[in-house]
Amino acid sequence: MTDAGHGPSAPDRRRILLLVGAAGAGKGTQAVLLSRELGLPHLASGDLFRQAVHDATPLGEQARAYMERGDLVPDEVTIGMFMDQLARPSADRGAILDGFPRTVAQARALDATLAGQGERINRVFYIEVPTDELVARLAGRWVCPACRTIYHELTDPPRVPGICDRDGTPLQQRDDDRPEVVRARLSKQVPPMLEVVDHYDRSGVVTRIGGRQPIGAVTRAILDELAR
Ligand code: AMP
Repeated sequence: MTDAGHGPSAPDRRRILLLVGAAGAGKGTQAVLLSRELGLPHLASGDLFRQAVHDATPLGEQARAYMERGDLVPDEVTIGMFMDQLARPSADRGAILDGFPRTVAQARALDATLAGQGERINRVFYIEVPTDELVARLAGRWVCPACRTIYHELTDPPRVPGICDRDGTPLQQRDDDRPEVVRARLSKQVPPMLEVVDHYDRSGVVTRIGGRQPIGAVTRAILDELAR
């Protein structure tokens, strides 16, 4: 056999990690910290697409219309983009995937493409935060219509609830940040995300991490798991 290093029992050539978590779970924050700690590139689908659109690359041209409508970019385009990123020297030791795969169909297609080169997603970290906590985090933002100062009910509240510290103006909430709008957004996002977690659970690569812990504790929990 000439495929030494590619068989299922061979050590994985590199670490391909996937971070899963709903909006507000702190996934993006963890991805940045882990990327620094592990020296692996952070490949975030939304950021990569936005960069491609900004740079007006052929990929950006393909993705732009879908993004403008808020639709998912077709799977083959998205997989092509990730395989291209994974083929770069910066990903020689692995990568942290964020935002992709986002559906089971994408997970299956990515698994098949990776398997074609003797690879797979090695570990999946699912950052779990209860829905009510996500809503509180996402819907806690209030803005002063006069001076534009942003407050957060949980992390950066004004001295008097609902009133701007600087000029006494009553604070307003953006439509997108209203609890019912946030709940509706989450209820569309969470079911496909849980299906992706289920999909990878079958191959036993998922670790659930409590996302209500402080940021540093979440990072440590993931790093400890990786070291085991
Ligand atoms: P995000 O920043 O993750 O909200 O992504 C912004 C946009 O990029 C989405 O609305 C989609 O158009 C596109 N996108 C991000 N991730 C994916 C994905 N996994 N599959 C397809 N399209 C995606």
